[in-house]
Amino acid sequence: MGSLASDLADVPVVDNHCHSVERDQDQVDVATWRAYFTESPDAQTRAVDVASTAFYSRLTTEMAAFHELAADEEALLAARAEIDAVSLTGRLLQDAGVAALVVDTGFPDPAVALGVDELAAAGNCRAVSLLRLELAFQELVAAAATYDDLVDATRTLLGSARAAGWSGFKSVVGYRTGLGVARWDEDDVRAAFRAARTEVEATGAVRLGHKPLLDTLLHLAFTAAAAQELPVQVHVGYGDPDADLRLANPLLLRDVLEERAYRGMPLVLLHGCWPYVREGAYLAAVYGNAWLDLSYGIPFLSRGEMRQVTRAALGAAPASRLMYSSDGARVPELHWMGARDGRRLLGEALDELVTDGDLTGEQARRTGERILRDNAWTLYGFDAHH
Ligand SMILES: [Zn+2]
Repeated sequence: MGSLASDLADVPVVDNHCHSVERDQDQVDVATWRAYFTESPDAQTRAVDVASTAFYSRLTTEMAAFHELAADEEALLAARAEIDAVSLTGRLLQDAGVAALVVDTGFPDPAVALGVDELAAAGNCRAVSLLRLELAFQELVAAAATYDDLVDATRTLLGSARAAGWSGFKSVVGYRTGLGVARWDEDDVRAAFRAARTEVEATGAVRLGHKPLLDTLLHLAFTAAAAQELPVQVHVGYGDPDADLRLANPLLLRDVLEERAYRGMPLVLLHGCWPYVREGAYLAAVYGNAWLDLSYGIPFLSRGEMRQVTRAALGAAPASRLMYSSDGARVPELHWMGARDGRRLLGEALDELVTDGDLTGEQARRTGERILRDNAWTLYGFDAHH
C-alpha cells in the first residue's frame, strides 16, 4: 500500500504567510546564523542554546543533505556563502516546489530584503503582498495633525488597498496590545491619539502600543477589508516575548468574529495559533470567515509537535478553511524546509485519517492539495493577478 505522505511530494505549495529574505546572505558566522532560528532576545539562548533544539538539529541535517556535506555548521555556512542570495533563494524555493508566495512586507526591513518581484523571479513563482497595518498606522499617526485627519487618512489608504495592488492586510496587534480588540469611548481614543502624538513630537516616530487608538484603527481596517473582501492575517500565539502569550489566545477575537459587518473579511489566524491550536481549529469550524494557517517553518518545533498541530487542525476544522505556510523570513532555508516538512507531516496526518476510516484515500489526496495549494490560491486571488 503506497503512503499518501509520499504522494503529496509532487503538489506545489502556496506559501500563504511568509516574508522576504535578506539581500546579504554571505556574511554569516555561526552565532549570527543560530540567532535566525529563535524568537528569544536572550544572548546566551540565541548564540548557544538554540543549537540544542530539535528544530535546529533537523535544519542542520537537512542542509547537509542539500549541500552534500557533513552536518557541520562551519562547513554548511561556507557552502551557502559561495552562492549569491538570489541564486540560493531560487534554488531552495524551486527545490521546495513553491508555486506562490503571500508576502508580509512589514518584516524584514525592505531596505535590506529582496523585493517581492525579485523573490518571485528567483523562485520562478508567483507572489502577492500584504500591507502591514501597524506600520501604516504609525506613519499615518506621525503625519496627522488631528485625530479627525487620522481617521480620514486611514479610511482613504485602506479603502483603496485592493486597487493599489495589496492582496490583504496583516496585523501584529498580538505583539502590541493583545488580541482582545475592543470598541472604545471616543474620549479614550482621542486621549490615546494625543499620547501617540506626544511620542511623535518627542522622537519623530511612534511605536503604536496605545490600545484604544490601535483597536479603533483596526476596526477601520476591518471595515475596509470587509468592503473589499480582503483577507486579514492576524499573528496569533508564538512569537518573541514582546507578545504576551497570555493575551494571544485566538478566543479573544470573539467580538471581531461575532461582528456581522465583518463577515466579508476572511480572518486568517496565523501559526496554527500555537499553542492554542485547538482554539484556532474550533474558530475555523464555527465562524464562516475564520481560517487557520498551519505554518511549518516558524514556530520552531519538532516534527512530532507539528504533526500534533496538523492532527488537531484536521481533527476539528473543515479542510476548506486550512492553509499551508512556512512563515519563513530573512533566510530562504525556512521557506524551503517548511514546504518539505509541511507536505510530509500533512501527508502523515492524512494517512492516519485514512487508516481510521475518516477519509478515503482519494479524499485525503484532495484534502492535501487544497491545504497545500488550492485554498490559498483562491483566497488571495492568484487567478485575478498578473
Ligand atoms: Zn510572519
